[in-house]
Amino acid sequence: MDGLFKTFRSRLFLSYLTLSAAVLAAVFFLVYRSLEGTELSALKFKLSEEASLVSAQLRSGDLASPRINELAHSLGAKVRSRLTIIGADGRVLADSELDAAGVKAMENHRHRPEVAGALGGEASYDLRRSATLGKVMLYAAYPVSFGGRTGAVARLAVTASQLDATRLLLKKALGAALLLALLLSFFLSLSVSAGFSRPFNKIVYGSKKFAAGDFSYRIQKDFHGEMGKLAETLNSMAAAVEENLRRVETQSQQLSAAFANMAEGVLMTGPDTRITALNPALEKLFSVKEADSLSRPLLEVIPNAGVSGICARALSGRRPVSSELELSTPVRGIFSVNASPLFSGGAVSGCLMVVHDVTEVRRLEAKRRDFVANVSHELKTPLTAIRGYVETLLEGAIDDKPDAMEFLGVIHDQSRRLDNIVSDLLKLSSLESCAVEVRKEDVALREFLDSLVQGLSSVFKARHAAVLNNIPPGLVVKADPEKLGQVFINLLENSVKFSPKDAAVEVSAQTLPGSVKVLVKDNGIGIPQEHLPRVFERFYRADKARSREMGGTGLGLSIVKHVVELHGGTVGAESAVGLGSVFWFTIPK
Ligand code: ADP
Repeated sequence: MDGLFKTFRSRLFLSYLTLSAAVLAAVFFLVYRSLEGTELSALKFKLSEEASLVSAQLRSGDLASPRINELAHSLGAKVRSRLTIIGADGRVLADSELDAAGVKAMENHRHRPEVAGALGGEASYDLRRSATLGKVMLYAAYPVSFGGRTGAVARLAVTASQLDATRLLLKKALGAALLLALLLSFFLSLSVSAGFSRPFNKIVYGSKKFAAGDFSYRIQKDFHGEMGKLAETLNSMAAAVEENLRRVETQSQQLSAAFANMAEGVLMTGPDTRITALNPALEKLFSVKEADSLSRPLLEVIPNAGVSGICARALSGRRPVSSELELSTPVRGIFSVNASPLFSGGAVSGCLMVVHDVTEVRRLEAKRRDFVANVSHELKTPLTAIRGYVETLLEGAIDDKPDAMEFLGVIHDQSRRLDNIVSDLLKLSSLESCAVEVRKEDVALREFLDSLVQGLSSVFKARHAAVLNNIPPGLVVKADPEKLGQVFINLLENSVKFSPKDAAVEVSAQTLPGSVKVLVKDNGIGIPQEHLPRVFERFYRADKARSREMGGTGLGLSIVKHVVELHGGTVGAESAVGLGSVFWFTIPK
């Protein structure tokens, strides 16, 4: 900046100096001309006086007289100038400063400008440097008339020393004035540039701040004019840039927040399928780390030809490609993969891939399909039986009373089974609906079980079963009594159903931290280990024949699981074939 400023100052100084010098030179030229004019006219006046004096003294006869030189000497002394008398033919006749021999040696003066002028009848002047004296001389030549005709020329020469002196004086004055102008220009340019330098410095400082990226800086504007306007423009430019930067920053923050928090896995590659970015969701999906994946080919990071193939197709086809892939490497699952090419200036600059894990969705869909098929199957079996027996009756069996009674008995059983299935399905769907209400209240478990067993006594009696209530007295849980009752009933009914007659069912409870674990133990047929994990699934039956025979729907344990989970508890079962089973559930206190 300093260099710039120096240049600016020196330019200013030079401009001032040139201007002053030019003006001074013009002024001095004019002054000199006018002084010279005045000086010359004074000299001329003096010389013309002297010349007329000389003319008056000269007679035409003197011209040819040998005394002419002496006369010239005495006249020259009188007028205190060099006097030269020249004949009409230009020959020098006499000279006040030369002897006769010297005069003779002088060349013809006819062509000297002043002599030529005087010979023409006019007083003439010439100012020139004398070759003999080396001084500037004023020559004034006057015609000397005898009887109306120019008979000779009287030439007077004086040194123009006065003029020289004036010229010298003027030169000195001009030099001094120039020196003064120099000083003045210097100080003027100094003060003017100092006036410029403060705003200039401020603007340069501000510009440096902007260049360094600090767009919040504002140039302090306490000056006006062009510099003021410049500062204003720079400030408003900085404000606009700052605003744009802020907007871009917000947008990029929003984008990166979306990128980081998206549930879908997102990755970006360059045109060569090398990874340029990937988000945390994708890191989780494929157990990779962004730091280890950047700049590596997609196939190397996710070693699956299907996934990288989709990316390659989007890149080469220049259009989005989507596909659902069932992967076994590097992870197991079903993934919906969308790849879109990214463009920059018309060329494909990369690929954006969005990966969505749809394993659970597909699993649920399959489960729903299975459920519908199961429900249809479950309903179809009793319906087919009912229809078959009704048709048999219609075809005449109704007339055979014992048969008819038997058939009607079957129809009754099957319709009860239908009723059971539908009511269990309704219970399940109401438990699964979002609007299910759990009205929790304190339930004293031992007393609660006693009242349930009393209600079911006919069922137990019919199968000679005994229920032993071993729940310690005073155990209280927070639960919806109606729903908890359903859990107990389902478990107790199963224990009786899947036990030989004279079953002994024992219900006990243990206090766990924060919850109570209730166990229903029987000495029944037990469940094979391979079936055990699935008995809580809908329509799953370990022993299909027995379940059907006992009027089971295959939904009882699903209902148990749902209710317990609604209360925040868990369910489980242990069993040994032929020895019996223990079904348990926990319920928060
Ligand atoms: P179901 O209506 O058939 O009883 P559940 O959902 O209640 O349906 O039970 C599912 C299956 O689990 C039953 O079909 C049965 O094979 C098995 N199971 C349930 N409880 C017991 C038990 N106490 N002893 C042996 N097997 C049982």
